[in-house]
Amino acid sequence: TLQVAMGFALLSSLYGDFMQAVGASVRIFALLDRKPDIFVPSNPLILSSLTGEIEFKNVSFTYPSRPETQVLKGMSFRVEPGQVVALVGPSGGGKSTVVSLIERFYDPNEGEILIGGCDLKLLDLTWFRQQVAMVSQEPTLFACSIKENIAYGREASMDEILEAAKQANAHEFVLQFEQGYDTLVGERGVRLSGGQKQRIAIARALIMNPSLLLLDEATSALDAESEYLVQEAVERAMKGRTVIVIAHRLSTVRSAHKVIVIDRGHIAEMGTHEELLAQHGVYKKLVLRQLTAGQPTRNEDEEKPGDLS
Ligand code: ATP
Repeated sequence: TLQVAMGFALLSSLYGDFMQAVGASVRIFALLDRKPDIFVPSNPLILSSLTGEIEFKNVSFTYPSRPETQVLKGMSFRVEPGQVVALVGPSGGGKSTVVSLIERFYDPNEGEILIGGCDLKLLDLTWFRQQVAMVSQEPTLFACSIKENIAYGREASMDEILEAAKQANAHEFVLQFEQGYDTLVGERGVRLSGGQKQRIAIARALIMNPSLLLLDEATSALDAESEYLVQEAVERAMKGRTVIVIAHRLSTVRSAHKVIVIDRGHIAEMGTHEELLAQHGVYKKLVLRQLTAGQPTRNEDEEKPGDLS
């Protein structure tokens, strides 16, 4: 793969545009590197509905680029439809990897991931991805209008865009731009704050009306108002759907139906916040560390999460 990519870079650079070649080779490298990682079924399945029921059955995973390190080791857990499941644990434990496997960027090396009882590998990937929305900590916005960024991936009417933006607490700041929803973002357009980008990403997720919402809760500090508006939007987006959240806020884990503590590729503990506190184990240590790191004068729920990871 590397040779092909480098060969391509070399060839193109002979034509003089080396920088373009580097860009192209990186893209080709990414494509070649990713494609063989997932299985393509001959008769991809489409389910009549996606309820959000997920089961990891003894899932092990090693990144193809790091064959010496097994990142997930025989992981099993269930997510019931409509549940909010929080993933917590030390940095590097495997939380993001679990989410990447659900998004199907990779397939497990061992075990299986069942979606509504059906092996994820057998599902039609395009259909599946339409049912799943991801809101990451640092969402990618495209160099086009705010309207197009929200509608991305869907043919949405202006009414739908407005409704999603309102739900996501984005409408007001968008209207403050002279060109409103036609405002360009990115290098040639306006620069948005972290909190504004997250609210656009939440609007984008809402417009998909996904059965399954994947969330990577922000750790980076937002100003208090922005944090409140983002959190309120996230809570609206979570309503009525199955949610898997990489959680950093204590309030999120406390209200989750299930907390899964992931440590070095294993599930260290699993249960509700109260059940896990009663175990006096890793989770309790994580929570105590967060609380003692916080400001004692403020209400626990208002704390910046400290970091559960
Ligand atoms: P954090 O809280 O820091 O985001 P995490 O619990 O989400 O951590 P992962 O990001 O899933 O953990 O990482 C688990 C392990 O997999 C780490 O050792 C990490 O270095 C490795 N890893 C993550 N992504 C990749 C990748 N794309 N290629 C190779 N190794 C990776």
